[in-house]
Amino acid sequence: MMAKLAHPSGVDPHYAWFHCPGCNGKHAVSTGPGGWGWNGSHDAPTLMPSVLVRTGRAVDPSYIPEEGDPPEICHSFVTDGRIQFLGDCTHALAGHTVELPELKS
Ligand SMILES: [Zn+2]
Repeated sequence: MMAKLAHPSGVDPHYAWFHCPGCNGKHAVSTGPGGWGWNGSHDAPTLMPSVLVRTGRAVDPSYIPEEGDPPEICHSFVTDGRIQFLGDCTHALAGHTVELPELKS
């Protein structure tokens, strides 16, 4: 089954994850109590509020950047199966809206 959002059943606490084309990696959010709102769709998912990922490297003076590292900041809205990257992202898709990629099952 193809899907853009994975939401493993029977897992507590509940969470969902998607593949971020800006970071070329997985972002996961809690969909349990106090977590993100999810519209229940795997093919055209919507998550609220926005997803903000900070790696925290910029404030770690001991960290030495390496080729292929994920970006420092990724900030997005996932809406109807598309991902809107906000302007504060530190990757190449900042300010762009693209389709979420299908997950490999
Ligand atoms: Zn990302």
